[in-house]
Amino acid sequence: MAGEPTVLVVEDEPAQREVLAYNIRAEGFQVVTAEAGDEALVVVQETPPDVIVLDWMLPHVSGIEVCRQLKSSGDTARIPIIMLSARTEEIDKVRGLETGADDYVTKPYSVAELLARLRTQLRRTRPASVGERLEYEDIMLDMAEHRVYRAGASLSLGPTEFRLLTAFMERPGRVWSREQLLDRVWGRDIYVDSRTVDVHVGRLRKALRVGESEDPIRTVRGAGYSLG
Ligand code: CA
Repeated sequence: MAGEPTVLVVEDEPAQREVLAYNIRAEGFQVVTAEAGDEALVVVQETPPDVIVLDWMLPHVSGIEVCRQLKSSGDTARIPIIMLSARTEEIDKVRGLETGADDYVTKPYSVAELLARLRTQLRRTRPASVGERLEYEDIMLDMAEHRVYRAGASLSLGPTEFRLLTAFMERPGRVWSREQLLDRVWGRDIYVDSRTVDVHVGRLRKALRVGESEDPIRTVRGAGYSLG
């Protein structure tokens, strides 16, 4: 479904990979998988995930190396990484290597615990996906109630405009290209003309108009749109 966060699971053990993917999907997230470190690096470029669950021991390129590479590149450094490891001593070692992983989980782990750690990471990068309130200046978006307020007034938004505003409010200041908005709001598998984005941004601007309030959405010529 469009808008759901994508979790990349990197695990070479087929059974463990399947169990993880199954449980994460059951939480309502999208899952992509990779069996090896080099494959993971390719997948991240093709389908940038919102969070990565990364096993340490992997064929070809180790989890540590994958983590180090992703964290040292500007494009991918902000993607949270949860490292999986068989033993606590290994985790201590990974920590010592300063790979930049955001969290560490020892195998065998409980799925419930791993999911809780996933949500913690998503709360930082995709707050709307875990039912948080998002605020930007006088705009407040309540994910749990599925409502938007501006200067205290409740606004009426269509479902597409709601998803658009969610994307904008998760990362104020980020310039979104039309293609990136299509991926996030409409989903990667749906063909929609990029001018459709302009139409819905127009509707969102109109819906956000309250009294003398300013238009919070900026058109960036040749690039796309941003909030603020
Ligand atoms: Ca492994």
